[in-house]
Amino acid sequence: MFLRGLEADRIADVAERRVVEPESTELVSRMLGGDRLALAKLITRVENRHPDTPRILSAIHPHCGRAYTIGVTGPPGAGKSTLVDRLAAWLRERNYRVGVVAVDPSSPFSGGAVLGDRIRMQKHFLDEGVFIRSLSTRGTHGGLARATRHVVRLLDAFGKDFVLTETVGVGQTELDVARLADTTVVVLVPEAGDTVQAMKAGLLEIADIFVVNKADREGAQRLAQELRGMLELRPASGWQVPVLLTSAEKGEGIDELAARILEHRDFLARSSSREERAARVRREEFRQMLAEEIGRRIEAALENGRFAELLGQVDRGEVEPFEAVLRILDAEDAADLLRPEGRKTPEGGVSGP
Ligand code: GDP
Repeated sequence: MFLRGLEADRIADVAERRVVEPESTELVSRMLGGDRLALAKLITRVENRHPDTPRILSAIHPHCGRAYTIGVTGPPGAGKSTLVDRLAAWLRERNYRVGVVAVDPSSPFSGGAVLGDRIRMQKHFLDEGVFIRSLSTRGTHGGLARATRHVVRLLDAFGKDFVLTETVGVGQTELDVARLADTTVVVLVPEAGDTVQAMKAGLLEIADIFVVNKADREGAQRLAQELRGMLELRPASGWQVPVLLTSAEKGEGIDELAARILEHRDFLARSSSREERAARVRREEFRQMLAEEIGRRIEAALENGRFAELLGQVDRGEVEPFEAVLRILDAEDAADLLRPEGRKTPEGGVSGP
């Protein structure tokens, strides 16, 4: 009787834990069946680099490749959020399913907890066709571009036709994120007036479409002219980068912007550049993940004390650092360093020299 009670408790406990923490594979099948909560949980897992991340990504892989990604980037306050909302609404009106990933490298918040999200959700919350998520550096171990890529892929597998990524700011992270998109829209405003700054930040290279937002303000036409002038100096490619004027707040210029995005999509499809871009993104992802994972495993090996003696020698200046690196990497059992922790060769694995 007593044992039975214990057993029942244990089962209840396990069952409860399953409710709180479902298996990733279960989440994937629920997500593929249209469960938004499962999608949200999976996003949290890949964002935080949950140990199941590779399994999740492999499971969704066959369901990916359909979504078209639009990256919207530019300085803070340029009107990106407003513009993304307008674009999302435009796409929804045409019955496309839309995902939005707002990437803020400077924000300590993530997981949809930022105020902006809530305000937006009010507009879209009844609309099952839009899924909005914020990402920040917290939890992503600095791998914001990686996290974004994985979240985009989840939204793709979920069945989104378009995924809009919005990056705040103009740093390297933002450029990395922007490069993931099929079409990159760079948003500038007249008062920034600082096209030179934008060019320095590398925005000219990544823009497929330029938007001068807040066209209701003075200087918009002049900025647009400046941009067109700069674009003319660029080597000709098959795509002529348009410079468009919008007033996102009033919803002006959105039809034209959306039309140009779809035109760019057609252009990519025609010129097979989309496949080339996708291949480049995948290759880049592979390289990044490989380097990241190797680094992580080597860190783990260093931390578990296997090289304590050598590290001590490095600390004391007795062994030159590069020499120490070579001693580890040129050792016969160096490959064992790359095995996940706890998986050593039968002979005992890599040992300190
Ligand atoms: P983000 O930081 O680039 O995402 O910019 P937001 O979308 O948050 O917009 C920043 C501010 O500019 C907000 O107060 C918007 O209401 C305002 N804004 C956005 N679009 C326009 C526009 O076309 N004209 C004017 N005058 N203000 C705008």
